[in-house]
Amino acid sequence: MPFEAPLYTEGLGQPPVRRYTGPIIDAHTHVEDVANAWLLYRAAQAFGIQVFCGVVRPAVIDALKHEFGESFRPIVRIDHSLIGQPLRFARENVLAICEGRAKGAVAAKFWYAPRFIAETHFRFDNPALRPILATLVDLGMPALVHVADPDCWFERQYSDAARYGTKAAQYEALERTLSALPDLKVQGAHFGGDPEDLDHVRRLMDKYPNYYIDTSATKWIARELSAAPAASRAFVVERADRIVFGSDLVAFGDATPAHYGSRYWVQRWLWEGEGARPSPIPDPCVSDPEGPTVHGLALPDDVLAKLYTGNARRLLGIEI
Ligand SMILES: [Zn+2]
Repeated sequence: MPFEAPLYTEGLGQPPVRRYTGPIIDAHTHVEDVANAWLLYRAAQAFGIQVFCGVVRPAVIDALKHEFGESFRPIVRIDHSLIGQPLRFARENVLAICEGRAKGAVAAKFWYAPRFIAETHFRFDNPALRPILATLVDLGMPALVHVADPDCWFERQYSDAARYGTKAAQYEALERTLSALPDLKVQGAHFGGDPEDLDHVRRLMDKYPNYYIDTSATKWIARELSAAPAASRAFVVERADRIVFGSDLVAFGDATPAHYGSRYWVQRWLWEGEGARPSPIPDPCVSDPEGPTVHGLALPDDVLAKLYTGNARRLLGIEI
């Protein structure tokens, strides 16, 4: 499929930039089933992505592997429905990780958004997770963790700090686990949940050599990195060995080709382009009447190669 496949770039205004021509691994997507995954797979291919790692239920791994072969790598979604029964919770998830690993799974996904914690009071340092995290250490698999949501969400839907806690409080459980388990590799989703405060991300990376971040949640990452492009570029170059490319695209039934295309378009421009362009992704957190813009950071070639594949190869053990 040609890169400029119009199906995926319709309405984006300008053709995507493609300075980097090597393979790309998308280290963070979500996939429910084969039928919905097809469009995401085609869009990824159109933008030069060779391998997509998808958070899945263990039950659909076989079907996805059958359909997409080595292009698809599963990420086992930790099932929290059994947290009321800690022993069973641990046993079932350890089993799911081991079975997933036998089928090529590269990581396990833990989702601790403030609304989940407010409801369950279950965090990333819960003792029930210990056998699960120990299994990941034994297998050399990272924990992909959703740690925090955007600042603008804390100002709006999470403004009730008594219920949701502050944004800073979201990091307490993460830090406890990072320090208790130095051999556990952690992939902090969405720039570790704090692209608004790169100094904070930098401090965590300095303190915990086992902590990596991914670039997923395109709208959020592009918005925040575009706000101060010089500082963002300096950060990515400085931390080039610990950042993995990911989109957080979700394969869902009503998705349009341009939905997927817009995310990959924005990420390509953000990392490879130079200067500001209007972003095709509507963003309620941007108050500028002109709408959101994405500022190309024009990263050096060696940094792009690490971001797009080198780091994911190392962190997730993916060969391409
Ligand atoms: Zn995600």
